[in-house]
Amino acid sequence: MLAPIEQLTIEELVQKQRRFFKTQATKSLAFRLSMLTFLKESIQHYEVELIEALHKDLNKSELDAFTTEIGFIYDEITRTKRELKRWMRPKRVRGTAIHLGMKSEIQYDPYGTVLILAPWNYPFQLAVAPLIGAIAAGNTAVVKPSELTPHVAAVLTKILERAFADRYVVSVEGDKETAEELLAQKWDYIFFTGSTQVGRIVNKAAAEHLTPVTLELGGKSPVIVHADADLSIAAKRIAWGKWMNAGQTCVAPDYVLIHESQQEAFLEAIKKEAFAMFGNGVGTKRFTRIVNEAHFDRLTSYLEEGDLFFGGDTDRETLKMAPTVMTNIQGDANVMKDEIFGPILPVIPYRQLDEVIEFISDRPHPLALYLFTASKEVERLVMKHLTFGGGCVNDVIMHLTNPNLPFGGVGESGMGAYHGRYSFETFSHAKSILRNTTAFDLPVRYPNFKGTEKIIRLIQR
Ligand code: NAD
Repeated sequence: MLAPIEQLTIEELVQKQRRFFKTQATKSLAFRLSMLTFLKESIQHYEVELIEALHKDLNKSELDAFTTEIGFIYDEITRTKRELKRWMRPKRVRGTAIHLGMKSEIQYDPYGTVLILAPWNYPFQLAVAPLIGAIAAGNTAVVKPSELTPHVAAVLTKILERAFADRYVVSVEGDKETAEELLAQKWDYIFFTGSTQVGRIVNKAAAEHLTPVTLELGGKSPVIVHADADLSIAAKRIAWGKWMNAGQTCVAPDYVLIHESQQEAFLEAIKKEAFAMFGNGVGTKRFTRIVNEAHFDRLTSYLEEGDLFFGGDTDRETLKMAPTVMTNIQGDANVMKDEIFGPILPVIPYRQLDEVIEFISDRPHPLALYLFTASKEVERLVMKHLTFGGGCVNDVIMHLTNPNLPFGGVGESGMGAYHGRYSFETFSHAKSILRNTTAFDLPVRYPNFKGTEKIIRLIQR
């Protein structure tokens, strides 16, 4: 007979992971590589169930589920396994004139036992991508998936149970209360992806134990379409990025600032693209649904705050909302205050680039910013004046698909970054070590050496 599954409290679980971390077992390259292999094999084992769960929770199509959730993770595991030996190698750095006979290096140490809190919009990818970094860096980890996507959470738990013992990596399912209980523990690192509002709560809880954090938050990501932009390319790429996952993407274009000379042509072009790619959304099988009634009702309330250029169809029964473009937005509209996180795209005209720069810089730093222009000068001005997490020129979203670019926000859109090598560094403490020779001992630094001050002043000018 199988032994009953041990029911541990959260506190006991953390203690168990701490004890395992102390054995040093998680630190060798061989261990990390085989754990990444186990993770990939377990995901492959449950891939069909995972695709079904993504369909049940969000109506994600198989293509979306594979490309944006599962394939992304396979790729990240493969690359991490290929590069890890090199990443783990201590990095030699140069000294200065006073470091004669000394060698300096940075060693990458795992933090220890880490907590990963994930949101619901890419419920699998955003839980597992940080986990790859945590494993690569040699940590143990507790992962809490979102309660709003329960089917995916259940499959994630099975994937992690099949691959790992709970003393090493484990999924803890639950809602806000579970998250609060987890946050009350002392962690060596906390990696949070979610809203700015909850990010504040996480940061406060981490501060209690002086735990370092990465906060991958949200906010409004603007698109600027300048007078000289290639309109048909802009419309096509914006439509793709906005209505993928029904706009429930942290780096989705939130609103468009369009040069007034191009507004009419842009609106027509994006309407054509939206219909070609997603139909009217509500009746389109492969269009993702809104995650729950509360978000659906919030989104529906925005439809009153301006003119509908197209879209606006909704079905509360299936939680579907059509790709929608709004114009003439009211002065104090919530749709221009909240992160939209749904299929509504406000389009606002401007005359001068200065207006755009002022408008964006008066608001919290965006997670992403997108600029469509043919002009290097316009690009230079926008890059110089605006602070944001990351972005694209003449594209949207694609910056996060390059693992050689750190992905993260700044200010209210977050702190810290990950993907590729940056994930490994995020979950590692950079330990500085200076190794001195004992073959000689320059007397100059000692206070009883005659002329010390003179020599030091000569070197440290
Ligand atoms: P959320 O902040 O509501 O929830 C995220 C996680 O925090 C969940 O696991 C949830 O259980 C937990 N949580 C909720 N309330 C909590 C509380 N009071 N105390 C502790 N934990 C709590 O976010 P969400 O609605 O799941 O996700 C949407 C948000 O996430 C959007 O703002 C989006 O922009 C952002 N996001 C950011 C990124 C990024 O990479 N920067 C990626 C995806 C989503």
